[in-house]
Amino acid sequence: MEVLKYDLLILGSGLAGLRAAIQAAIVSKEKIRIAVISKLHAMRSHSVAAEGGIAGVLYPEATGDSLDLHAYDTVKGSDFLADQDVVELFVRFAPEELKFLDHLGVPWSRTPDGRIAQRMFGGMSIPRTAYAADKTGFFIMSTLYDNVLRFENIDIYHEHMATSLIMENGYVKGFTVLDLKEGVLKVFLGKASIIATGGAARIYGFTTVSSSVTGDGAAMSYRAGIPLKDMEFMQFHPTGIVPSGILITEAARGEGGYLINRSGERFMSRYAPQRMEVAPRDIVARAIVREIQEGRGFIHEESGLGYVHLDLRHLGEEKINTRLPFIRELSKKLINVDPVHEPIPVRPTAHYTMGGIHADTYGHIMFNSTDYVPNLWGAGEAVATSLHGANRLGSNSLAECVVWGRFTGESAARYAENASSSLLEVSSTVEEIFKREEKRLFDQMFKPELNAEDPYIIRQELWRTMDTYVYVFRDEKGLLEAGRIVRDLKDRFSRVRVDDKSRKYNMNLKEVIELGNMLDIAEVVIVSALARTESRGAHYRTDYPKRDDVNWLKHTLAYYTPEGPRLDYIPVRITRWKPEERKY
Ligand SMILES: Cc1cc2nc3c(=O)[nH]c(=O)nc-3n(C[C@H](O)[C@H](O)[C@H](O)COP(=O)(O)OP(=O)(O)OC[C@H]3O[C@@H](n4cnc5c(N)ncnc54)[C@H](O)[C@@H]3O)c2cc1C
Repeated sequence: MEVLKYDLLILGSGLAGLRAAIQAAIVSKEKIRIAVISKLHAMRSHSVAAEGGIAGVLYPEATGDSLDLHAYDTVKGSDFLADQDVVELFVRFAPEELKFLDHLGVPWSRTPDGRIAQRMFGGMSIPRTAYAADKTGFFIMSTLYDNVLRFENIDIYHEHMATSLIMENGYVKGFTVLDLKEGVLKVFLGKASIIATGGAARIYGFTTVSSSVTGDGAAMSYRAGIPLKDMEFMQFHPTGIVPSGILITEAARGEGGYLINRSGERFMSRYAPQRMEVAPRDIVARAIVREIQEGRGFIHEESGLGYVHLDLRHLGEEKINTRLPFIRELSKKLINVDPVHEPIPVRPTAHYTMGGIHADTYGHIMFNSTDYVPNLWGAGEAVATSLHGANRLGSNSLAECVVWGRFTGESAARYAENASSSLLEVSSTVEEIFKREEKRLFDQMFKPELNAEDPYIIRQELWRTMDTYVYVFRDEKGLLEAGRIVRDLKDRFSRVRVDDKSRKYNMNLKEVIELGNMLDIAEVVIVSALARTESRGAHYRTDYPKRDDVNWLKHTLAYYTPEGPRLDYIPVRITRWKPEERKY
């Protein structure tokens, strides 16, 4: 058993993980030893795909923006399920983080007078989304990665996949980690850890996210006894390109793009007359699906998918080339449509996990409403600090990653500086968990029987189920059916096989491990959604179409049990903004 020991383990090297690593290195004056562990090469983390921008109030005097306005937009966007103290903290630190990124060297798009350019985004009442053309994630990631390489106390473990959390007496001792290059299971022990493993939208087939976004960190935490919060709230981005689901950034609408139906009508006037196409995503996504359901959309011949048009033609070639070059490139490459001359076919696509590992305001991970995992923090999409509530506003996520990367990097580093080195001892629990994982991965999954289950058929069935029954609109009947199918898939998964028998770079084994995680997460999403008999934000129940603040102004916590998730609830923290009807 190879054991690697560090003061701080950071699981994930997206925007959240890299920002946490930098902060931990800075506050500890490069004294503590830090490992960044990533199942991908760090620079291939999903954050590089972020297109449209990052939110923060930068120039209030010039623009009339304010922290209060950003906070109010976020709370209203969340359909009043955000914890308001979290939102207030977020808006205060987002501008600082944008300036920090500027100092590190992010090549922002700029206004003629040299300010960082900001564009309109859905649900924001003022242009406050800073951007670098439509490749913002890539540019921020490159800048953070370059800076992480400057610190000699940070080691990066690329292509190392964590498979389980090692918990002992309520502390996290570390992770079992599969070195994908060598096919060897290792143990990483840390005095403190940060989980920054990203979202889980790959439980859907029609999605914007890359194949790596499989909810591993959330699934591992859940199985180790840590609850997942508000998982029923999956975000569907209104504009996934048809037929692949790949994202056409909200910036396309922020820059003035229209949504039109088969009759050429800008139908958003029916659903959000004031904000039109830049209403929040839940509202625009529902509007598109309604248009399709009521026969005012188009049908894609090969896939049978309904869609509407995103029309950018009136923006003109120059604006499209300077502000949305990637969108033009994507559209031409994927579907041979040049948005300068033709509208783009789009429909809502699974995009973002509002829920996640239950954490407090500063990203400290909790077992319930009062008890902490003393040495575990979490940042970014993997975690629910309850910033986004029932619906995230576009561009708040990248800002969340850097704000909580900073908080958790700082807290975890301070903890590690003073923690007992007994946390790094190889105890019998560590040995047992390591043996259990080795058995699970190398004995059980490498099933020799020819009639064992094919993981790719199970995955296909999971995607079909989620895309059908747990999409923009849900109801009891569909959710019950989805629950039944996923339980059956879990049973079949227990007899799954890995055909590729090689140890090195066994992507077949990696995908099987991910599938196990996705099935657990999907079950939590379904069970949480079935229980919530109201409609709020991205969770819309056709059988309960109204928001119900009397009974449901609360967060869902889902705990692992062998029979399926057990649910509990905790209140939403309301400070300044009383729930009101959302009108846009
Ligand atoms: C196409 C697209 C465009 C977007 N555009 C925007 C935008 O313009 N603005 C905005 O605010 N938001 C945007 N978002 C959302 C935003 O990009 C993500 O929420 C954010 O980048 C998540 O960052 P993260 O650091 O939490 O996770 P990620 O960037 O997903 O990184 C996760 C990390 O965890 C690692 N990991 C996962 N599982 C394991 C494991 N088992 N073992 C080891 N490592 C593991 C991965 O290797 C990776 O390094 C967009 C999302 C998509 C899909």
